Amino acid sequence: MSVKNRFRSAEAWLIGLAVVGLALLPVISSAQSAAEPTAEDFQRLVDEAYNLFKDVKEGANANYIPILDTVPSELFGVAIATRDGKIFAAGEQEYRFSIQSVSKPFTAALVMTQQGPKVLREKIGVEPTGLPFNSKMALEIYPERSVNPLVNAGAIAAVSLVQAGSEDERWKLVHENLEGFAGGTLPVLEDVYTSEYETCWGNRGIANLLYNYGRLYSDPEEALRVYTRQCSVGINTRDLAVMGATLANGGVNPLTGRRVMPAEHVPELLAIMATAGFYDESGEWMYSAGLPSKTGVGGGIVSVVPGKFAIVAFSPRLNEAGNSVRAMRAISYIAGKLGVGLYGPNLGE
Ligand code: GLN
Repeated sequence: MSVKNRFRSAEAWLIGLAVVGLALLPVISSAQSAAEPTAEDFQRLVDEAYNLFKDVKEGANANYIPILDTVPSELFGVAIATRDGKIFAAGEQEYRFSIQSVSKPFTAALVMTQQGPKVLREKIGVEPTGLPFNSKMALEIYPERSVNPLVNAGAIAAVSLVQAGSEDERWKLVHENLEGFAGGTLPVLEDVYTSEYETCWGNRGIANLLYNYGRLYSDPEEALRVYTRQCSVGINTRDLAVMGATLANGGVNPLTGRRVMPAEHVPELLAIMATAGFYDESGEWMYSAGLPSKTGVGGGIVSVVPGKFAIVAFSPRLNEAGNSVRAMRAISYIAGKLGVGLYGPNLGE
């Protein structure tokens, strides 16, 4: 090739690159705006989600824990908390609902913090069950028995794995850990505890079966009591948002600045939330929202946009899988509008 031709082909390349660059400009700029929403964007979206879904009446309060059926069904709160501690909220922010299964990833985090992720994997498991959260069948068909720390079996096992010298200490560690993530004191809703502990025959069965299989690591009734108490902790929508933002912030609470779990274990925890946080609806949820999340039968859901912020919502009416209908709608709406699904902007269809 002559020098001139070479120059010409270089010129053609440059023009080609410029054309491709121009063609990609909208993609690049939309990716940028998706990555960096403004405070106004966050506030507008929580307001929109609240207004769009506040009249949805589908689903019903959990009633297998009798007291949950008495929580006013119309309550609805939506919030976003960023990794630098800003909170954007709409609807109910004060009402303290029971954290229920949203507590599970945080106790799994405590086990990881005390003993590392290998222990969690070997002594509980990290596989989704594809079955409801309270499944006894999962225990019989999976060799790991507890299967993962986000279903009841695995969560009771996680409580039993917490290294503690007594039941009081076990509870104190679990409770203080939740408070560390929330960045403030969290009460136990004693009426919720009593209501669940008096009726938890299914979970008692699970705890005893796990013990029988050598997959529970403390006295079964102790694990059951501490687990039930953990589920009875009262949080409001803002507490939930801060707990999620702490995970989004790599394990440092953005309000207190305190590290509550090692940064290097956050990805494993989020992976379990992505694959099992919605139980037998986890695939559906990843398909529509694309975010690691955790739900609870109290009506709370926390979703994490890793490294950025948390989107949360609370409303008591649940679908068949035990997941809050309005909270799911609100979070997937916001995630869709912001284009923050982990694998690219999910269209939510
Ligand atoms: N405490 C509840 C239970 O053990 C938690 C279930 C949930 O929130 N999915 O049944």
